[in-house]
Amino acid sequence: MTNTPLTVLCITGWCRNGSTIIGNILNEIPGFFHVGELHFLWRNAAGRGANEECGCGRKLVDCPVWSTILPVGRPAGITLAQHADTVVRHQLATVRTRHTWRVLGRGLHNEQIRAHAALMTEVYHAIAARSDARVIVDTSKVPGESALLPHLDGITPYYVHLVRDPRAVAQSWSRPKEYVYEMSPGKSTGYWTGFNLAAHAITRRYPERSMLLRYEDFIAEPEATIDRLLRLCDSDPAANPVSDRTVDLHTNHTVTGNPDRFHVGATVIRPTDNTWRTELSAADRRTVEALSWPLARRYGYELGSPNSNGRG
Ligand SMILES: [Zn+2]
Repeated sequence: MTNTPLTVLCITGWCRNGSTIIGNILNEIPGFFHVGELHFLWRNAAGRGANEECGCGRKLVDCPVWSTILPVGRPAGITLAQHADTVVRHQLATVRTRHTWRVLGRGLHNEQIRAHAALMTEVYHAIAARSDARVIVDTSKVPGESALLPHLDGITPYYVHLVRDPRAVAQSWSRPKEYVYEMSPGKSTGYWTGFNLAAHAITRRYPERSMLLRYEDFIAEPEATIDRLLRLCDSDPAANPVSDRTVDLHTNHTVTGNPDRFHVGATVIRPTDNTWRTELSAADRRTVEALSWPLARRYGYELGSPNSNGRG
């Protein structure tokens, strides 16, 4: 099968970094389609993930998009549950965070990763055909999946390494929200470090098609940031749907992500995000800073006392 050339705009980094709203803004652009966290499609559709709902409000298995994509690559006579088992087994064996460097260095090096790559190739192209998109925005944030993209036939990946202040991320994880569970500041920051190191390994390997973006810079200048993202993937900034900090969001078909994904209508991107300064305890703040400081300073986050102006 010959596939039409397709761009995948891959947003990497650790969860709670603002990828869902950025993806949903891009979803408003003609020719763009935000899939959400595609990595979790199969387990979520089979009822084994965090939630079974598409961004359109239907169950994934009943969604007009995903009901046509879920059978793609599934052998005849195999149920969705059985297929989900296979996909998850391949994911765990080949694209966990710790596998990122192996995927970057050795590509499709064994049968399992070749099987997973074949499935993802077929699925991305099927999504493009179904949605009439030429750019698929994937906010899975699973570094191993991101590293796999250059090995998929007919797909050109672009990478946005999206980072957010680890203290804000830790505070966000401390509040359960709908289907999103809680995580301790220490655990959140451990994942923050691991996922960002893996994302950095990917963007260092493909610098010409990558950019580093701080969530804080996005909310400071959302319109200019979306312009940058469009230029990164050779798209026209004239299509930017953000104007005066506001974007009109329509129904999307995202696989999981921040529960705000269900919101439609005029949405204002607020310029500040400082609740962690008052809601994160001093002890938790010290834990996060101790665990994250080398990378956090590299990204320009000021650490130390609230009055500190030291910048690494
Ligand atoms: Zn849907």
